[in-house]
Amino acid sequence: MKTYKPTIGLEIHAELATRTKMFCDSPNDPFNSKPNDNVCPVCMGHPGTLPVINKKAVMHVLRVGIALGSEIADFSEFDRKNYFYPDIPKGYQISQYEHPLVSGGELARVKITRVHLEEDTASSNHDDGDYSLIDFNRAGVPLMELVTEPVIHSAEQAGNFGRELQLLLRTLGVSEANMEKGEMRVEANISVASTEQTTMKEFGAKVEVKNLNSFKSVEKAVAYEILRQTALLESGEKIEQETRGWDDAKGKTVSQRKKEDSHDYRYFPDPDLPKLKISEIPEFSSVNLKKTMPELPWEKRKRYQKLGLKPTDVHIYVSIPEVGAFFESVTALMSKKESILLSSNYISSDILGLIKKKFGEGKESEISKLSFVPKEFAKLILLIEKKIISSRAAKDILTVMFESGGDPEIIAREKDLIQKSDTDTIEKIAEEVINENQKVAEDYKRGKQASLQFLIGQGMKKSKGSANPEVLKTTIISLLS
Ligand code: ADP
Ligand code: MG
Repeated sequence: MKTYKPTIGLEIHAELATRTKMFCDSPNDPFNSKPNDNVCPVCMGHPGTLPVINKKAVMHVLRVGIALGSEIADFSEFDRKNYFYPDIPKGYQISQYEHPLVSGGELARVKITRVHLEEDTASSNHDDGDYSLIDFNRAGVPLMELVTEPVIHSAEQAGNFGRELQLLLRTLGVSEANMEKGEMRVEANISVASTEQTTMKEFGAKVEVKNLNSFKSVEKAVAYEILRQTALLESGEKIEQETRGWDDAKGKTVSQRKKEDSHDYRYFPDPDLPKLKISEIPEFSSVNLKKTMPELPWEKRKRYQKLGLKPTDVHIYVSIPEVGAFFESVTALMSKKESILLSSNYISSDILGLIKKKFGEGKESEISKLSFVPKEFAKLILLIEKKIISSRAAKDILTVMFESGGDPEIIAREKDLIQKSDTDTIEKIAEEVINENQKVAEDYKRGKQASLQFLIGQGMKKSKGSANPEVLKTTIISLLS
């Protein structure tokens, strides 16, 4: 039987978060201004202008390299990639070819080939059939390109790599990396080899898929290509190397260009820019940059796992920074492991539950706008731990805090939810319950244990959850014996 092995390599672009563009001082703000507003003679490619390297953009890429455990170039330079298209004002794009800033490294068990720095192109709008509109606000925005080795073997792994990179870029403050806005763009190269092929050469011909605007699209497009290519191989056809576009509405890829007519970009080092001797520039030194590194997503995961958090909670805190920040500020006020774990349960199930109910699915980040502060929530946890309130009362108190804020202890008093352990009060409740449920009480006397649970439940209800269940239980038992 023949088997088919899919292989995927990703090329990912990300617009870097800087104040100004890559080689001039026009604002880096492609979304929030009117078309062709953030431009100057440099990014419009006027003759006689000279580019100046944006140090911040270089630092961003170097920090990505440090996070990936890559090799940071000692020598780096920018090259001109020559081609003619209206979105590229100079007739060439400044990019990197022979000497990228970053080589090698690994993310989510995927080997990285390189990470280099270039400039973005203008955005074109072809919506009207008669003409195209070009907006140069994006021309010259710093753009990072990361290339992976062809070592991914499933659609899911491709999607997860993209998500992990997005998380890293956001954690480093390097890019907003929003796929829908095009701040992060993923191109997937997919090939399928049959076992026969594998014996001759390792890979099948690769198909490059563009126009992927979400991680879901990446997964769907890769899965689609694997099926399409496998079916072609099954029927004895050959896969042609080509570029295809993803049609999200139709859920399929469509051929755009066959056999990339082997572009000659005539790359050559840009004579207008200085060579970079990375180690000699203080801002670029790895020692200095390492000091600016925040805790990385996988480091955070490890720390949370060690704390004993549930895997689902770890995932939430790492992937939704606002929720993670809330968890951090609550637990900064605590020293005991049990308190931290208890807090985690209340955050991930109760607080997020209330948020979802009020704001809808996917709105977890609303946690940064709660009507109570971490300190008040920590106090609620303390009240539960000291058995001053029951866990049932805690849920009611939390709902009040969520709706209108406030100190949990004051809410507990106002709502009469302070756990009652004093014998007189409890005895009164127990007597009432027995009187109102005489048949059940008789059942218990005749040995039916479930009846005791029912009576305790009724007592808890009567006290609105404020009775200490242990005291209530012993009182009922003693009254009935
Ligand atoms: P090209 O010269 O066509 O741009 P590269 O060697 O630069 O090709 O690779 C571009 C991307 O394609 C990389 O992410 C790489 O991992 C991936 N790739 C290369 N060959 C294959 C293949 N046979 N199957 C899947 N992906 C591949
Ligand atoms: Mg390439």
